Amino acid sequence: MDNCIFCKILAKQLPSSRLYEDDHCTAFLDIRPVNPGHLLVIPNKHAASLAELDPDTGAQMFRVGQRMARALRGGSVRCEGVNFHMADGSAAGQEVFHVHLHVFPRFAGDAFRVTLGSTLKNSPTKAELDAIAEKLSANL
Ligand code: 5GP
Ligand code: ZN
Repeated sequence: MDNCIFCKILAKQLPSSRLYEDDHCTAFLDIRPVNPGHLLVIPNKHAASLAELDPDTGAQMFRVGQRMARALRGGSVRCEGVNFHMADGSAAGQEVFHVHLHVFPRFAGDAFRVTLGSTLKNSPTKAELDAIAEKLSANL
């Protein structure tokens, strides 16, 4: 895709600190890391959203993410835990519209925080959960 930053990184038209690539996925460091070692796993074929992503490639992205998590835990960066994060759509915080899996190391006292709005802290009843599960199942 002509205007896609990550396609340009894949094509080496833009620089990146690449640490892994295979036939389906590539991993490189995020330029604005949550913590040192924060990396992105992306499909080699452009897909703007999860809906466009070939499921086998999605599975490979997760496999690569697991391997990257193992690398993060290998002792070269501070890593006491690992987060995976994927934003699908603007409302979810997606800024680059080429699917990417964030994989980043965590440690006690780091600055990363996820905050839930007050409404999310209220637990729904079992009946409410069942009703949502039933509605969602209709869309599987
Ligand atoms: P999103 O908000 O879409 O989930 O995350 C996009 C991520 O891509 C951000 O964490 C951002 O720092 C990273 N990013 C944006 N542009 C570049 C770039 O040119 N090179 C690299 N390595 N990362 C980028
Ligand atoms: Zn792209």
